[in-house]
Amino acid sequence: MKRLVILGAGTGGTALAHILRRRLSPAAWAITVVDRSPDHYYQPGFLFVPFGLYAPRRLVRERAGLLPGDVELVIAPIEGIDPAANEVRIGGGEALPYDILVIATGCDIAPGETPGLLDDWRVTAFDFYTPGGSAALARRLESFQGGTLAVHVNEMPIKCPVAPLEFAFLADWHFLRRGLREAVDIVFVTPLSGPFTKPAASAALGALLGERGIRVVPDFAAERVDAAARKLVGYDGREVAYDLLVSVPTNMGDQVVGDSGLGDELRFVPTDPKTLRSKSHENIFVIGDAANVPASKAGSVVHFQARTVAGNVERAAAGRPLAAEFDGHANCFIETGRGRAILIDFNYEVEPLPGRFPFPLVGPLPLLKPSRLNHWAKLAFRPIYWRLMLRGRPLPFISDRMAMAGKKRPPAAGATA
Ligand SMILES: Cc1cc2nc3c(=O)[nH]c(=O)nc-3n(C[C@H](O)[C@H](O)[C@H](O)COP(=O)(O)OP(=O)(O)OC[C@H]3O[C@@H](n4cnc5c(N)ncnc54)[C@H](O)[C@@H]3O)c2cc1C
Repeated sequence: MKRLVILGAGTGGTALAHILRRRLSPAAWAITVVDRSPDHYYQPGFLFVPFGLYAPRRLVRERAGLLPGDVELVIAPIEGIDPAANEVRIGGGEALPYDILVIATGCDIAPGETPGLLDDWRVTAFDFYTPGGSAALARRLESFQGGTLAVHVNEMPIKCPVAPLEFAFLADWHFLRRGLREAVDIVFVTPLSGPFTKPAASAALGALLGERGIRVVPDFAAERVDAAARKLVGYDGREVAYDLLVSVPTNMGDQVVGDSGLGDELRFVPTDPKTLRSKSHENIFVIGDAANVPASKAGSVVHFQARTVAGNVERAAAGRPLAAEFDGHANCFIETGRGRAILIDFNYEVEPLPGRFPFPLVGPLPLLKPSRLNHWAKLAFRPIYWRLMLRGRPLPFISDRMAMAGKKRPPAAGATA
């Protein structure tokens, strides 16, 4: 009997366990999934908790009920990965041998990486990337009566790179509804030269931030937080004062990846961007936020990666050459408040373009502009996540590889109408 071990039962690990259990014969392959916690959180919901739009208890389910019955789930911390011995060490000292390993340990915030950020943590400085952070921020926002709200991105890459923008837009809407918008100065502080990594989307989002009266402080690399004086201090000497800081701290891969010598300086696993195999070990594959590939760290991306990883695990098991299939496809709904959202669809090669999605002309979802339909589609993501994505089922009308149908390319430079 051969052994496939999947580290992490989050979005990627769970979906992959389903797909591979359907494809690998149970008589030939045992599949074990390891996670430190029995609870699976729907992380996109953390964005809505601070504004009272989702109750935290509706975002969590037991992992055991989310995996196929003939996959073994081990709830324990992963303490070491030994690629030379093809073995994983888990809490209690037990060793799990593997023939093929999939790393799906995701990434998490590391607020300790920025001096001072933890000094007034969850008093004046908050995150919304964790269950505890989003719940604490909900309580703080309820009593916030006015002042400067700084929404801060410390360093890229972060998971869901649009989430801090969405937070700023939702904050605008939240204070508008409470009649406090005039009393709150919202400032978006980013290490990027614009609000988003991709130029066309950055221009569209920048215009919308301007319309909503949200100031952008670009190219800001925070050296430290002066919690007593309530200000962010940049390496270039610039300062941003705040009354309430909502930070997306540095995101890092899990400690065990770093300790096992499998990660880069941010503990992301060097991974081939198209085959999703580890660059250093032939029997290790990586899915989702744990990989260092230049795709967005998002649940949609994990979904589009899953069949490539599953197919390549099967090929590796059969000694066949891998398929270089993954194209970096990402599909993100960006909540812009006031009941609207923007949809962007892109990959390694093609940046977000205007047009209609998923079908040309009829859409029905418009690309790169706010619409009510996109907002409803964003809310529909939650049942789709539990029912389809986690089970590794295809999404209706959306292929793993990005389609150009419905997208309008800008005219080539110098072309005449
Ligand atoms: C606020 C927020 C909003 C988001 N919004 C969206 C959105 O709108 N759309 C979208 O597509 N994506 C969104 N995302 C991103 C999405 O949730 C992640 O990209 C996705 O969950 C990544 O899946 P993963 O399997 O790589 O990691 P995860 O789902 O994070 O799973 C990693 C698992 O590994 C386990 N693990 C890690 N280390 C260890 C260890 N040492 N021992 C044992 N277990 C371990 C963890 O417990 C965890 O269960 C959002 C994320 C956040 C935080």
